[in-house]
Amino acid sequence: MTETIFAKIVRREIPADIVFDDDDVLGFRDLNPQAPVHVLFIPKRPIATLDDAQAGDAELLGKLLLAAASYAREQGFSKEGYRTVINTHTHGGQTVFHIHVHLLAGRQMHWPPG
Ligand code: 5GP
Repeated sequence: MTETIFAKIVRREIPADIVFDDDDVLGFRDLNPQAPVHVLFIPKRPIATLDDAQAGDAELLGKLLLAAASYAREQGFSKEGYRTVINTHTHGGQTVFHIHVHLLAGRQMHWPPG
């Protein structure tokens, strides 16, 4: 897969406001936040899109979701709630092809999304 800006963030070659960091997952604030809290969770080992995920990626994808949930719980978002989103390809609105979970919190979300 083609390398993205997120790989550079993983290697600390470009700055990011990192809020979560473990062996497999990095969480950092979105540059263009769509809610009072907008954090992106990415696997350090890149997968381009959800469409590219294989059975062998199951554990890593699980860790990605659990990282977002654990951060939300720790930050106290569980009571009011929050939204997690994975955009895939063009119609999904994906712009960076290194899979990421958006965690949005701090305001009422609406459905359907735009
Ligand atoms: P997507 O549209 O692919 O689901 O989401 C990509 C997200 O990455 C967007 O919300 C965009 O604002 C964010 N983003 C793009 N480039 C950067 C960057 O260099 N740093 C950070 N922190 N966020 C970025």
